[in-house]
Amino acid sequence: MIKAVFPGSFDPIHNGHIDIATRAARVVDELVVAVYDKPLKNFLFTPEVRMGMVREVFKDNPKVTVCGYSGLTVKFCESINAQVMIRGLRVFSDFEYEFRMALANHRLSPNVEMMALITSDEHSFLSSTTVREIAALSGDVSTMVPPHVAAILKSKFEALGDDHSIVPTQNVRD
Ligand code: ADP
Repeated sequence: MIKAVFPGSFDPIHNGHIDIATRAARVVDELVVAVYDKPLKNFLFTPEVRMGMVREVFKDNPKVTVCGYSGLTVKFCESINAQVMIRGLRVFSDFEYEFRMALANHRLSPNVEMMALITSDEHSFLSSTTVREIAALSGDVSTMVPPHVAAILKSKFEALGDDHSIVPTQNVRD
């Protein structure tokens, strides 16, 4: 039985994430989409809201479960007996970052293998940062995120009005 973890911030989840998770779930027995909480990052949405958005996406996929975690991703993988960590690769700069992370993670937890899936070309430009920035300026994100995520983004930015000071402008490498 291969159990894999697809970790990320998912702030918010978008079609690029969904594509990677769906494809990964086809080749493993169980996929845990793990939503990162803290420390080190600023988020637009709370962990509960981010997890809720992810759960809604995968509610009909019996191979996928969703949970939150904090701290080191490899330690989380070990704690739930997952042998594999899934990552998505977009552009060459992702490769350099993922290469470094994979080597560091392997040093920490040699038993957890990383599997990187290449993005589908229609999602290669997509990041949560891009989605947040477009939604913050009332742009149309309907081709980038599922309808329930678009609705949550809309109400979030309506509630914030012109105050975008809490919108994180960039994640670690987005
Ligand atoms: P992180 O904070 O770990 O970068 P993200 O939520 O931004 O978390 O991304 C989670 C995972 O999804 C990462 O492996 C990232 O490379 C991958 N990913 C993000 N956007 C895309 C995309 N457009 N296509 C494929 N993979 C992606």
